[in-house]
Order: sequence, then structure tokens, then C-alpha cells
Amino acid sequence: MNEGIRKLVVIGSGPAGFTAAIYGARADLEPLVFMGSNYGGQLMLTSEVENFPGFPDAVIGPDLMERMRSQAERLGAELVRDDVVAVNFRDYPFEIKTASKSYKALSVVVATGANPRRLDLESEMKLMGKGVSNCAVCDGFFFKGKRVAVVGGGDTAMEEATFLTKFATNVQVIHRRRELRASAALQKEAFANPKISFVWDSAVERVLGDGRVQGVKVKNLKTGVESDIQVDGLFVAIGYDPNTKIFKGQLDLDPKGYVRVKNETETSVPGVFVAGDVHDFRYRQAITAAGEGCKAVLDAEKFVKEKIRTVQTLSS
Ligand code: NAP
Repeated sequence: MNEGIRKLVVIGSGPAGFTAAIYGARADLEPLVFMGSNYGGQLMLTSEVENFPGFPDAVIGPDLMERMRSQAERLGAELVRDDVVAVNFRDYPFEIKTASKSYKALSVVVATGANPRRLDLESEMKLMGKGVSNCAVCDGFFFKGKRVAVVGGGDTAMEEATFLTKFATNVQVIHRRRELRASAALQKEAFANPKISFVWDSAVERVLGDGRVQGVKVKNLKTGVESDIQVDGLFVAIGYDPNTKIFKGQLDLDPKGYVRVKNETETSVPGVFVAGDVHDFRYRQAITAAGEGCKAVLDAEKFVKEKIRTVQTLSS
């Protein structure tokens, strides 16, 4: 079944997707927003958000997303709780497919985000937002005067460890090898920081604590010896997986699967714009994603107006 041609389709329902929906509705683009079966993105797994402007007393992650969702809906965006399973950006108008329907669109904003990789431990998920975090910039402040651990050996892990030394009394980096993957500059900075120490060749076996992180059980992968490290927080920084499976072969992606961007919001296909963590592995903040959702729609609006003008000129 084909649902007619939409001026704007937004794929994704994090801060980038909902901001695109809000701006799209205000620009009379009558956006259709595919929220996915799990709406809200990464903030749905966050407890307090203290750095989103406009909330002087902080806001709970899922509450912030619910506010964005209802704002988009009130302004007239059509929100669909469905997963997009395929797209065709080779033909125009573009085609967006769910399991049961097919839609056509004059412009698309891709805002499908990225998922932080997990250690895949039951205890990690149980204590997520209760001492386990994927974002030092978001949650570091809550660890003032406390001890924390960071898992990972890449750029993100080194950046997070260094950032956390502003608040924590000490930061232990737990890495599964004896060698870091991070860039030389970030390694140098971390090694020079007296608050950072390293637990090499080790894997986190379990996050300890009942209702709140109290430590981690680690296993030395060379000796097999297990030990407990007392910490109040665990930052899992083992990389991200951008949600771009459905765009493979349709949009230009980098080797790690992120959407390649040019001129702020443009993808390799004119008329398809991108916003948020699905391309941005540098900033990854709710506020930067929201800002990009706005920019993507301002660009989509121009694109759609131009398309409609061309069609009208040709038919007159
Ligand atoms: P990454 O480079 O993929 O590094 C992931 C790290 O986590 C690796 O050290 C890896 O160990 C470890 N790891 C992966 N899976 C694990 C698991 N299941 N258990 C334990 N450890 C695990 O990811 P990233 O650091 O997030 O960086 C992603 C991209 O963004 C990179 O291209 C990076 O250069 C870029 N980035 C750049 C900056 C910057 O330039 N300032 C900042 C952040 C990120 P192994 O080393 O053993 O594989």
C-alpha cells in the first residue's frame, strides 16, 4: 500500500528526530516521523539530565524525550511507532518502507542515532543510570569526589577518563589488552594525568552493587585471576554502532558505518539530510543532535520549496 507523497519524512526519534519534527511541522512540511518500535533514543536510558538548557532543576531522560514527543505532536507532526525496514533513495520521490506499508517523500531527514556498545552483562543493564553510564560529559558531574572506572582503550575511553578526572578522585581504565587503540595525543594526555591508572589485560565480569554501583569484578585475561575493584561509577566506552543498516548501498557511509556528511547536513543524495549521532561521533550530545535536527529541516525546507517551484514552472 502506498500512502501518497509526503513533503518530509523523518526517520528517528531522539533529540535530532524530534527537533526535525518540530521544525518540520512549523515549516508546514507536514512531517511524517518514524519513531521506531523503541522511541526516544539514548536518553531513554539516562536518569538525570542536568546540561540540557531550560531545565534548571535537571530533567529525567525519558521525561525530556516525552516532552519533545508531545511538542512535535501538538505542532502537527504525524508520529508513527514503526520501524523503517528499507529505503530507496535512488528513485525520486524517495521510498520509505515499513514491514506493512510503503511511503513516498520529497525529502528525508535521517536521525537514527547510534547505539553505545554494551559489555552485554546483566548487571550492567540493571545498574544503567545507577552508576553505569555511557557518557562522561552527561554524568561525570554526579561523581564529584568519587572513584570511577572506564572500560575501553580507544579515543572515547581516553577522552572520558581525562574528562572524569575533573570530578572523580581517581579513574581506573580497564582495558582488555596491554596496548591502547587511542591516538598518540590522547594516550599521552591520559598517561600524564596522575589521577588515571590502568588495569591492563582485563575484562569486566560483573558490575557489583545493589541498586547503585559499588564496584566491578574484573578478570585478568592472561592469568585468569579475578579481583574486585571498589568504584562508585563505571563508564563503558567501548565504541558506538551507528544505526545505518537500512542505508547501506543508499547513502555514502564511512568505514565504521557513519553517514558521511557535507555542507553541514547534506548526505550523498540530494534531498536526504542527516542529523545527530548517526553521523556525529565527535560531540554526541542531546543538544548538538537537537541543533542538527533544526539545521537539517531548514535545509530540507529549501530543497522541497525548490522542487515544488520547478514542478510548477514546468507544468505552467
Ligand atoms: P573504538 O576506536 O572502536 O575503540 C573501542 C575500544 O573498546 C577498543 O579499545 C576496544 O578494544 C574496546 N572494546 C571493544 N569492544 C569491547 C568489549 N566487548 N569489551 C571490552 N572492550 C571492548 O571506539 P571509540 O573509542 O568510541 O572511537 C570510535 C571512533 O570515533 C574512532 O574512529 C575514534 O578515533 C573516533 N573518536 C575520535 C575522537 C577525537 O578525535 N577526539 C574522540 C572520540 C572518538 P581493542 O582495542 O582491544 O579492540
